[in-house]
Amino acid sequence: MSDTRTAAIADFAGLVAHALAVEEEAAERYAELAAQMSTHNNPQAAELFSEMARVESLHADKIRQRAAHLTLPDIAPWDYCWRDPEGPETTLLDEVHYLMTPRQALTLALHNERRALEFFAGILAHARDDDMRTLASELAADEREHVRLVEEWLAKLPETPPDWDQDTDPPALQD
Ligand code: ZN
Repeated sequence: MSDTRTAAIADFAGLVAHALAVEEEAAERYAELAAQMSTHNNPQAAELFSEMARVESLHADKIRQRAAHLTLPDIAPWDYCWRDPEGPETTLLDEVHYLMTPRQALTLALHNERRALEFFAGILAHARDDDMRTLASELAADEREHVRLVEEWLAKLPETPPDWDQDTDPPALQD
């Protein structure tokens, strides 16, 4: 399933601007989630989200280098070419639980990385020139690599126990 609205990304600079927004937003959100998980004393999930934040900010840096000699279009948040208010690689906060297991954290990350892959593959399908095609196929390949990385981590993790959301040390209730 690819997003038909990606057809609206008209040129190379537009694609760079979108890619940068996707990666910056993904990195920020993963970092936010890492902070949230460590606040909730869930160091394993925190560590995985931090690692994803690192991967995505490296990705943003790489795209920023491509953008160095370009004048990027100013795109208002509501004019980005994706269906949801948030970018295709952004973890939705309501999908996150403070007791989530590393497997659940990574399953969420996998979902986002696959959406990012679909997004760039959709752009590749509609690319209007060779520069766009080259960049879109690179970005899709990077996301394919992220998907592979997350799948590799997931394969090493135990199944989620049925009582994963039972808090053995719940916050004390106030009288
Ligand atoms: Zn990614």
